Amino acid sequence: MGTRIGVVGSNMVDLITYTDRMPAAGETLAAPSFAMGHGGKGANQAVAAAKLGGDVLLVSRVGDDLFGGGTVKNFQDLGIDTRHVRAVPGTQSGVAPIFVEPSGENRILIVKGANEHLLPADVDAAADDLRTCGLILLQLEIPLETIYHTVAWAAREGIEVLLNPAPAVPELDVERILSATFLVPNQTELTILTGLPAETPAQAEAAARTLVARGIRAVIVTLGADGALLVTDGPTVHVPSVRVRVHDTSGAGDAFIGAFAQHYAANRDVQAAMAWGASYAADSITRPGTQKAFADAATFARFRE
Ligand code: ADP
Repeated sequence: MGTRIGVVGSNMVDLITYTDRMPAAGETLAAPSFAMGHGGKGANQAVAAAKLGGDVLLVSRVGDDLFGGGTVKNFQDLGIDTRHVRAVPGTQSGVAPIFVEPSGENRILIVKGANEHLLPADVDAAADDLRTCGLILLQLEIPLETIYHTVAWAAREGIEVLLNPAPAVPELDVERILSATFLVPNQTELTILTGLPAETPAQAEAAARTLVARGIRAVIVTLGADGALLVTDGPTVHVPSVRVRVHDTSGAGDAFIGAFAQHYAANRDVQAAMAWGASYAADSITRPGTQKAFADAATFARFRE
């Protein structure tokens, strides 16, 4: 099994406006400040793995607009292989306009843009390079047909797949993703996948078990401050979280998965990779933002001391 990590997924530009209040319909309001950031679940997970030294191949789509070039450059600066990150003519890059009020309350819109144009044929076009990967990461910000196609292709190739069913998409056909090696939902996503409560660790375990019974090899449920559960057909394993002073938990799940993938691809030890992911996610939530809150290997080594 190779140590290379393939990510078939989204990228977005976060457009964050800090405002004293939301304008009423028809009202124009000056806001005090604005910030941009690189985001999108596929990109975030790729960046976390790459910052830790993982060898990452990304398959993604940007628009032929102002944002596309900057997004590709960000990936390249981080050492991510972008040969399959392409601009789709006539589209806009995915964007996430975010409005933050002084209370910290967030309002977020997602415009998927070019991410909707990442199609099964694009995965086929990247197949020769994806074949060099030992693990492929998927999330749900690209078309479901592309997810099903990639899961089926990887199963035929004998390549392990980690599917993060986020954001929760009720239309996901679980029957078509059962060959995934790892399914990694948070508690909300697990409830939407199974129709079962997952508020407590015991409930989450029972819900995850129904997915294992249907054929998923391993379900890793992230439980926020309660850590994560590994549910397989063997005994369930609970990996505790690392206690930190929380600043901003956005992107915690992506940090966990990116770090898990980097460690697992290198060592093939699921429990050790979960502990590594929980530690990396904990460090990331001590800082604001998503990708910019993700530590590089040296900074993370200091956190772990
Ligand atoms: P998501 O961000 O997708 O909702 P979670 O909230 O479950 O995912 O967080 C992912 C992981 O990040 C958790 O499994 C845990 O390891 C870590 N984490 C999240 N919140 C905290 C917290 N408050 N303290 C410590 N670790 C946390």
